[in-house]
Amino acid sequence: VIVDIAHANIDKCFTYTFDPTLAVQPGMRVLVPFGAGNRPTEGFVLSTSEEPTQPCVNLKQIVRVLDPYPAIGEDQLELCHYIKKTYHCLLVDALRLMIPAQMRGGRVKEKTVQTIQIAPGTDLSKARSALLKKDGSVKYPAQMAVLDLLEQTGIPMAVSDVLACLPEAKSAILTLLKKGILQKQAQKVNRTPTHLPYGKNASEPPALTDEQRAAVDLILPSLHARSAQTYLLHGVTGSGKTEVYMHLIADCLASDRQAIVLVPEIALTPQTTNRFLHRFGERVAVLHSRLSAGERYDEWQRIRTGEAQVVVGARSAVFAPVKELGIIIIDEEHEHSYQSDHTPRYHAVQIARKRCELTGATLVLGSATPSIVSYLRARTGSYQLVELTKRVLDLPLPGVQIVDLREEFLSGNNSIFSAALKSKLKTCIGSGKQAILLMNRRGYATFISCRGCGHVFTCPDCDVAMTYHRYGERIKCHYCGREAAVPHTCPACGKAYLKHFGVGTQQVEEQLLALFPDVKTLRVDFDTTRTKDAHQKLLSAFANGEAQVLIGTQMIAKGLDFPNVTLVGVVAADASLYIPDYRSAERAFQLFTQVAGRAGRAGEKGDVVIQTYSPSHPSIYFAKQHDFQGFFAYELAQRKAALFPPFSAFVRVLFLGEEQESLEREGSEFALCCKERVLQSLGQGNERELLYDCACFAPIAKREGIYRFMVLFKLLRTKHTTGAVDAIYTCAGEHARHPLVEVNPSNLF
Ligand code: ADP
Ligand code: ZN
Repeated sequence: VIVDIAHANIDKCFTYTFDPTLAVQPGMRVLVPFGAGNRPTEGFVLSTSEEPTQPCVNLKQIVRVLDPYPAIGEDQLELCHYIKKTYHCLLVDALRLMIPAQMRGGRVKEKTVQTIQIAPGTDLSKARSALLKKDGSVKYPAQMAVLDLLEQTGIPMAVSDVLACLPEAKSAILTLLKKGILQKQAQKVNRTPTHLPYGKNASEPPALTDEQRAAVDLILPSLHARSAQTYLLHGVTGSGKTEVYMHLIADCLASDRQAIVLVPEIALTPQTTNRFLHRFGERVAVLHSRLSAGERYDEWQRIRTGEAQVVVGARSAVFAPVKELGIIIIDEEHEHSYQSDHTPRYHAVQIARKRCELTGATLVLGSATPSIVSYLRARTGSYQLVELTKRVLDLPLPGVQIVDLREEFLSGNNSIFSAALKSKLKTCIGSGKQAILLMNRRGYATFISCRGCGHVFTCPDCDVAMTYHRYGERIKCHYCGREAAVPHTCPACGKAYLKHFGVGTQQVEEQLLALFPDVKTLRVDFDTTRTKDAHQKLLSAFANGEAQVLIGTQMIAKGLDFPNVTLVGVVAADASLYIPDYRSAERAFQLFTQVAGRAGRAGEKGDVVIQTYSPSHPSIYFAKQHDFQGFFAYELAQRKAALFPPFSAFVRVLFLGEEQESLEREGSEFALCCKERVLQSLGQGNERELLYDCACFAPIAKREGIYRFMVLFKLLRTKHTTGAVDAIYTCAGEHARHPLVEVNPSNLF
C-alpha cells in the first residue's frame, strides 16, 4: 500500500495484511492504520500476494476498502510508475492524477433524490374509493391528484417533480406514504455537465471524401490489430479531421472499446465538443477543469463503468478510467496546453503514447500545423504520417494578402486598419457575411509609459507591465488581477506626458465602429470571458448571426467553424513575432495558419489580410503560401543551426522565494554544484555537450510577490542527455527549497 500522503520519505510500499473477505485487489483505495499513532489513513493498493514479499514483523491490517472496485486500473498503475520515473515525482502524485481529487477524503459522493411511486400490489380502485365521500364526490382531492399523476407516469417520480406539478400536495404525499399506498425510494442521479444540444438523437455522418476515406482505411488495420501505432494526421484547416476522428471512434464502439479525445481547452473549443455530443449523444462523457466536484465524479463513474464510451476532455482526460481503451485522439496536438503546469509536469502526448503502448490502443495526433518535433518524428518513422491536403467539398483555401504597415504609415494612414482591410471589411459587411479580427496581445499588452522619463507602469507584485483598460480608465495586472485607476501624472518625474502604447481588442472595436457605425460586434478576450460559459455564449451569438464582426485575442484562433465567415484580419501580426522564445516563429506560423483557416469554410472562397511591419518574416511568408512543408524545412534548419530543440534540450530549475538576496545566493550556489554533476554525468571528453548554462532571475523576476530565480542548462541531444537530465533532477530533489525542474518548459518566462 502507498499511503495518500505526499512526502518523499514515505513514498514507498508498505505491507499490510487483510481479511480475505475484504476482497482487496490492486488499484483499490483502502483505509489503513499508519504511523506510530496508527492514524486511519487513505492509501492505494499496489499489489497483493499470499506471502509478504519481504520479511516483516508486526504487520498491521487494512481496516476497510473505500470503494467496492479498483479505482485505478491495471494499465493506469503501470502508467503511474512510468510517470514517477519520467517526471521524477512521487508515486502518490502520479496516483492522485487518476482519480477525481474530491474522492480523496470522501469529499464527494453519489447524489440521490427521494422518489415516490405507487407501492407494488396496491389495489388502486380500492385506494381511490377510500378517498371519496358517501355521495361519490372527492373528499381528498390532493391525494387523488397525486395518485392520478403517478399512475399516468408509471415510473418513480422525484418528490420535487411531483411538487412542481402539484404545489399543494405535500401533506397528501405524507398521508399516502403513511397509508402504505405510496412507497419512498432513494434513487441515484447523475450530475451531468452536458446538455445535448439537439435532443438525444445522434446525427447521421456524412459520406467521407476520398482523402478522408483513405486516412480512415490507413489507420483502421492497426486499430483492429491493437498494435499501439501512433499516427500524425496532418490535414489543412477545413479538411475534415474531426470527421475522420469520429469514424475511427465509431469503429471502436462497434467492437465495445472506448475512446479518449483530447482537445486543447474545452472552454475554447465548445464547437468541437458539441460535434461529438451530436454524433454520439449520451455515450459521451466530458471532463474538464470547470466541472463541479459532483459533475466530475459522476462523469468519472460513467466512464469507469463503461456507461460512457467516448471521453472528450482537456489534458487530464488522458487519465480517464476507461477499461477497454481502443483509441486516443489528440486534436490540435501542437498546442502547449497539453503540457501540465503543475507537478508532475507531464505532457499529455507522452502519456498517451505510453498508455497506448500498455494497452495496444491506437494514438492519433491531429493538426493543421503539427509541432516541428512531431512532424520530424513522422518524417523519421516513429509516427506514421497521414495527410489531408484538400478542404472538404473542394473548397479552396483562403487567399492571403500581406499588408506592409510601414508603407501604410508613409502614405499617411494612421488608423488600425489598412486601406486593404478597410475595403474588404466594407465588402464583407455589405454582402451580409461575417468577419473575424484577431488582435493578438500575448507578450505585447497595451501598457502605459511616460514620454518624459520612460517610466513604465508595472505591477509591484509581478514585475510585468500593467495593461491599460479603456473601460473605466483602469490599469490591470493580468497575472495577479491587481488594478488601479489610470494616473494623470508620472509618479517618477511628475510630468503629464503619459502615453498608451499598443492597441488592444477594445481599440479595434472602437475604430471599427467609427468606420462602420451600424455594424454589430462581439468581443472575445480576457475581460469578456471571465464568467462561466461567457465564452460559449459569445460564440453561439456569433454563430447565430447576432453580430457581423467577431474581435478577439488568440482565444478565437482555433477550432471554430462558422460557415458564414468569409474574411479574417490579423490586425497586428508583429505582436506574435518578437516574443523572446525559440518557438516564437513556430507559434506565430501556427496562429496565422489557424486563424486564416477560419475563413471560407463553406461555399464562398475566404479572404485573409495580415497586417505587419515585417512582411518578409518566414512565419508570415509561409502562412501566406499555406506551405507547412516549406515552413518546417526552414524552421528545422534554423533550429539545427542554433542547436535548439529537438537538437538540444533546455532544462530549467526554478527557485521561488520571498527574499531576493538569499534566493539569488542559494540559486547561484546550486548552479555551480549542479553544473559539476551534469559534467560528471556527461563523462570525460563530452563536456562540450553542455552547450550553455546560466543562473539569473527569470525574465518575469517576480510574480504575485514571489521572486523567481532560474538556473538554465542547454544540453546537446546525445545518448548522454537522459543521464544529465536525471542528474539535474536528483540535484534539485536534494535541495531544501525543492526547486521546480522542467525540460523544455512551454515558456521561458
Ligand atoms: P478541420 O477540423 O480539419 O478543420 P472539420 O472537421 O471542422 O475540419 O470540417 C470542416 C467542415 O466540413 C465541417 O463543417 C464539417 O462538418 C464538414 N465536413 C467534414 N467532412 C465532410 C464530408 N465528408 N462531407 C461533407 N461535409 C464535411
Ligand atoms: Zn500583479
